[in-house]
Amino acid sequence: MKLRWQAAGATHVGRVRRGNEDSLLVDAERGIFLVADGMGGHAAGEIASMLATDAVGTLLREGIDQGLQADALLERMVEALKLADAAIERHVLENPSTRGMGTTVTAVVLCADGTYRLGHIGDSRAYLMRNGELTQITRDHTWVQREVDEGRLTAQGARRHRLSHILTRALGADSTDEPDVLSGTLLPGDRLLLCTDGLTGMLTDRMIAKVLRLEIRLEDRLAELIRQANERGGRDNVTAVLVEILEEAVEERRLD
Ligand code: CA
Repeated sequence: MKLRWQAAGATHVGRVRRGNEDSLLVDAERGIFLVADGMGGHAAGEIASMLATDAVGTLLREGIDQGLQADALLERMVEALKLADAAIERHVLENPSTRGMGTTVTAVVLCADGTYRLGHIGDSRAYLMRNGELTQITRDHTWVQREVDEGRLTAQGARRHRLSHILTRALGADSTDEPDVLSGTLLPGDRLLLCTDGLTGMLTDRMIAKVLRLEIRLEDRLAELIRQANERGGRDNVTAVLVEILEEAVEERRLD
């Protein structure tokens, strides 16, 4: 089934931070979407997330324009994340004061066959809302998530933990860090959300789901997510990309 979609993205500095270290990419025409959350002081985080966004965006764009499909796009995604990692490492070599900078990346590309391919590293997230139910489709690469997986911490405890921001994997941090890649099928009516932890740190999944269910314009749903994150403290930069899969186009019948 050939998919049609609409998409938009938004980012906000929040109410505490001075700079915005998040980056996003919305290439609705090609079906490429990404959020990245940089880290490292003195503007290094901004540079890291931007370098990754540029590298991944460029490679995926070329892939789509070359007509790559499905698993070839997944391979391209892996390549793109490696290139982004190398770009950050090169920047650090040339600018030793930026040592320690890195970024999360959660990127998705929609394929013509009605599936998506996703690459993910760090604690930004992808969620899928289908029939009003919200599911997190990425797994955080964080210390607290590992503790939850091994049964030493509850999900609730992880949210409030003082070490909840500690990442176990990121781009630029350690070249042996492997991203996760996954694929899935999309259906008309699905809503796909990519977001940084500035959103999920402020809003629970239940709060996010409530906003995604609203039958208002896509841009207004995004604005509402950011408004609520800021209302609840806005302690971090907030970034969200929302993609909505539309009903199939009715094929026009020719009567000649
Ligand atoms: Ca963040």
